[in-house]
Amino acid sequence: MRGLYVHVPFCVRKCAYCDFYSLPLRQPPIGAYIAAILHEANTYARMSFHTLYLGGGTPSLLGAGGLRKLTEGLRHTFDLSGLTEATIEVNPESATGELLTTARKTGFNRVSIGVQSLSDAELAAVGRVHNSAQAVDAVKRAVKSGFSDISADLIIGLPGQDRRSLRTSLETVLGPGVWHLSLYCLSLEDGTPLAADRPANLPSDDIQAELFEQARIFLTQRGFVHYEISNFALPGHECLHNLNYWRGGEYLGLGPAAASHLNGKRFKNRPDLQAYLENPAGLITDIEQLSLRDKAAEEAMLRLRLLSEGLDVNELGSRFGEANIKELRLRLCELVQSGQLTCDGSVYRLMPSRVLTSNPIFGKVLGG
Ligand code: SF4
Repeated sequence: MRGLYVHVPFCVRKCAYCDFYSLPLRQPPIGAYIAAILHEANTYARMSFHTLYLGGGTPSLLGAGGLRKLTEGLRHTFDLSGLTEATIEVNPESATGELLTTARKTGFNRVSIGVQSLSDAELAAVGRVHNSAQAVDAVKRAVKSGFSDISADLIIGLPGQDRRSLRTSLETVLGPGVWHLSLYCLSLEDGTPLAADRPANLPSDDIQAELFEQARIFLTQRGFVHYEISNFALPGHECLHNLNYWRGGEYLGLGPAAASHLNGKRFKNRPDLQAYLENPAGLITDIEQLSLRDKAAEEAMLRLRLLSEGLDVNELGSRFGEANIKELRLRLCELVQSGQLTCDGSVYRLMPSRVLTSNPIFGKVLGG
């Protein structure tokens, strides 16, 4: 299984919490950017992929014409005959009917909408461009355009968010076609306006955990499976592209700041739009060839994110060699003894109560 990720690093403006690589350009150089992406793609010509993910940033800013040109170019360059899932991320304010219809016509079968909240006050508090009515309309337009696999992002822990407003967001966003939800906990990242000027009404960590639990119960009561730390889906509607990441599969990332994992190597492009436009294939940095031991530990950590699937350590041993997972097995046993993981035969899983405090556990899995 191999995934293709294309990064679109443009946004209408920066949200107060955002530390992704995206630029708030008044007139993004769409044409030049698509040409640069296709130039970089050409250095991997004829490679085949099973999933495509157009992420950002705000891919819906490409517009219908840009989207058509980009997808035609990708189909011309790569072997996409085995594509099973193609996702486009959109933000409500730029997810026009024309864009969504074009996305369907050009082969996208899944759309991920940056709803974030359906409270206008919460959206405004973090500088989102859209309001709740625009978000609801974007979901309706996606359904009308023929998408039957719709995902919505919601943020837990927004300034002023409480149990009532979260319930309204969840109840309103769910509907026909919305079979997948990603719930991200708001975090204050260094260098962001939100971290520099922390709002007084920001929910505490404990309240954030309570809100997450409320959402988890709400969704599981409606048949959604909490299949990954931040992701819920009705059975059969999990995001295949992201499942491939968490299962340690291969992927190619195109665009500035995009990361790749190919032929046992990890590498990424420098986050520099101008340099990328000048030399699209010349930004590769951080090339890392992991030892089998490190690679097994990293895959173990990623697979533990998959709450229901978990990590089958025997299967890992058969692929990486028992000698390379000997110490990993000991670390996993210690984590079971300390009540942080469960063990069922050879399958290890994260304790559901540890979902929001999993980073130190993953650090131990990696041997830290
Ligand atoms: S829309 Fe997304 S990528 Fe763009 S600034 Fe907001 S959070 Fe960041």
